[in-house]
Amino acid sequence: MRKDSFLKFEKAIKSSKNSVIITHWSPDGDAMGSSLALYLFLKKLKKNVTVIVPNQYPEFLKWMKGDKQVINFAENEKKALSVLNKCDLIFTLDFNSFKRIEKLGEIVEKIKVPKVLIDHHQQPDNYADYYFHDVKACSTCELIYDLIVGLGGKKLIDKHIAACLYTGLMTDTGSFRYTSVTAKTHLVIGELLKTGIVPEQIHAAIYDTYSEDRMRLLGYALSEKMTIVKDLPVAYIALTNKELKEFNFKKGDTEGVVNYPFSIKGIKICVLFNESDEGYIKISFRSKGKIDVNKFARSYYSGGGHINAAGGRSNESLDGAVSKFIGLAADLVK
Ligand code: 5GP
Ligand code: MN
Repeated sequence: MRKDSFLKFEKAIKSSKNSVIITHWSPDGDAMGSSLALYLFLKKLKKNVTVIVPNQYPEFLKWMKGDKQVINFAENEKKALSVLNKCDLIFTLDFNSFKRIEKLGEIVEKIKVPKVLIDHHQQPDNYADYYFHDVKACSTCELIYDLIVGLGGKKLIDKHIAACLYTGLMTDTGSFRYTSVTAKTHLVIGELLKTGIVPEQIHAAIYDTYSEDRMRLLGYALSEKMTIVKDLPVAYIALTNKELKEFNFKKGDTEGVVNYPFSIKGIKICVLFNESDEGYIKISFRSKGKIDVNKFARSYYSGGGHINAAGGRSNESLDGAVSKFIGLAADLVK
């Protein structure tokens, strides 16, 4: 953001009294970490601020400070609307199109208050008054760190804010190993560690909380359901609703499953198809190098994301969605 634009942005934040922070559908570690870090920071500035999520998020993200105050729009629409109707500024974090917040998007679009987009995904839509956007940032949490520092608030980053930011930096980088990781990522982590947070504890809170069912679902998905497409460096896993129910599927149970086939030598694209209760197939795409799954998900699956990690959906049957993908896979690899 240019310096003059940042000054206007800073003024908008500092003069706002009642703000709302919204993050994307099915919030992940970066979505909740960035939202709660910004929430805790604005609280320290004595602001009235509320986090609204469009729908439920996994249990393993429910330990961050401020979590109890989060309003779930799907479960408490009335409360969410009453907060939205009183707000004077809306932050949208870790997404860049109102489609990503489903029904909440139709409401937010019509609210006539300034909107802020803070995000690192490709190709943002044109809905915001302020864009704090960088596709090179490894996570929205990295951008929230920059924002807090830019607003002169570095000293206000305590253990709680640092734990939220660490969560998003860790989860969106596959524990600091994706191509999005830079020297800057590690410098930010270094600063966060100075607050006294313990990486091992945060890692365990996110990753060592599997139920036995979740672990067995992972085993089943890899041993029984993974297919490597003939003559292509492509692997996919397709899970039916019935299979998910047999393993007592809970939100977040398939998070990370899509990445496992990368451990097979030569695999460059991994895809996970999940049949959902919502009546569509949720699809996750992951790629290596220059293979652009954001473009692919946008073109064929009403989705998007990053060049190497994107999501989308299909309204076909599970078999139909898989066959269509197999038909397109050779072109994607080229
Ligand atoms: P995941 O496959 O883990 O759900 O998502 C991978 C990345 O793509 C995340 O950064 C996520 O925010 C983004 N993403 C997932 N689903 C969608 C979608 O339907 N539309 C768009 N635009 N982005 C998505
Ligand atoms: Mn993110």
